[in-house]
Amino acid sequence: MTALRSTAARLFGEMADPVEGAPPADLVLAPTTVEEAARILDFASEHGLAVVVWGGGTHQGLGYRIEPDLLLVTTRMDRIVDWQPDDLTVVVEPGLPVAALEARLDERSQSAVLPERPGAATVGGVVAAGASGWRRYRYGPTRDRVLEVVVATGDGRVVRGGAQVVKNVTGYDIPRLVTGSLGSLGLIGRVCLKLWPKGETTTTVRVDDPSRALEIAYRPLAVLETATGCFAYLAGTEREVAAQGAALGGSVQEGLLWPEHPTGEVVVSVRVPPASTAEAVRRLPAPDSFVAGHGVGEVNASFDSINPSELEGLRDWAESTGGAMVLLAAPDGFALDPWGTPPQTLDLQRRIKAGFDPAGVMAPGRLPGGL
Ligand SMILES: Cc1cc2nc3c(=O)[nH]c(=O)nc-3n(C[C@H](O)[C@H](O)[C@H](O)COP(=O)(O)OP(=O)(O)OC[C@H]3O[C@@H](n4cnc5c(N)ncnc54)[C@H](O)[C@@H]3O)c2cc1C
Repeated sequence: MTALRSTAARLFGEMADPVEGAPPADLVLAPTTVEEAARILDFASEHGLAVVVWGGGTHQGLGYRIEPDLLLVTTRMDRIVDWQPDDLTVVVEPGLPVAALEARLDERSQSAVLPERPGAATVGGVVAAGASGWRRYRYGPTRDRVLEVVVATGDGRVVRGGAQVVKNVTGYDIPRLVTGSLGSLGLIGRVCLKLWPKGETTTTVRVDDPSRALEIAYRPLAVLETATGCFAYLAGTEREVAAQGAALGGSVQEGLLWPEHPTGEVVVSVRVPPASTAEAVRRLPAPDSFVAGHGVGEVNASFDSINPSELEGLRDWAESTGGAMVLLAAPDGFALDPWGTPPQTLDLQRRIKAGFDPAGVMAPGRLPGGL
């Protein structure tokens, strides 16, 4: 590996610093352009190096563990390339922190509607993890806002898909393909996102019954349930928001008081049909904290100490509804498959991966079915 390290350093410059929290890797590179990332991936394919792309590192616990040879860090690709406030689009590089993007867009009262509490998460990481914010109830999932992507594929090509307009239907839908691909197809090198104007007024209303809140409120941003209660999140003109708050009848607080993400030794995400959200909450085996998105069917929960077998019933039930229960975080050796039953589309996914990453170097074995 030492020879390979010096070859890589000669071709791509000095190694980047080791990344806190990342698994040890012989090579750590931080490209500055998608073309450079593609050349590195060509090299990785030629030498059969297992590659993990690293954004903010907040979602690297997803899926089967990988021991990478090469860590490809996106921190040096962090620019806003083009923002068109009148067209409601922005083009960014993948290593741009979500918090930095939202702070910038806020200057014109716009939002990319990415996760509301991103921590160190990057735009590329959010797209690659297929993570949506809680405002998904009103605005739909993140994948619907990814208009265009430029990807450095596992075998070192630069591929562009989609277009910087809201409607485009030609060719393969590469933006949707890479959303949620967890770095298994290539490095997402550039993303064009559709934006939304922010409401002029926002409030958080405590409610007793989430289903009733969904019936009464007109397009709330979200209706969330946590261990401390249920809350409806509203945005709009001052009059709209005041009228809706009054109709909901609970105590009203100014602004959007988003909860913290559940964190702990074990964190799970339960995805079920929207109508089954309340039942998913009832079936959680004594969580330390949880956030349930009513109307979207997503419940994330953390447990400080839990036996894997206590989660099996929850997974069986979630799968019986057509949903799933995945592990977002778990200690080494936790005896529960991180994904559960592999999807029936595994064969198709395998063929797609072979098209982008024929040498199988991108996040090898991370996905369901060990893909
Ligand atoms: C503590 C905490 C908990 C959170 N919990 C949730 C939650 O439960 N649900 C939720 O929806 N959001 C959650 N978020 C929000 C956050 O949006 C996600 O963690 C985010 O999607 C991960 O982004 P990241 O930059 O940290 O990516 P990383 O964790 O670095 O990477 C995530 C995956 O994407 C791949 N990847 C990263 N960048 C690229 C790229 N440019 N090209 C290709 N692949 C890439 C990685 O290889 C990896 O497979 C949480 C955030 C925090 C801080």
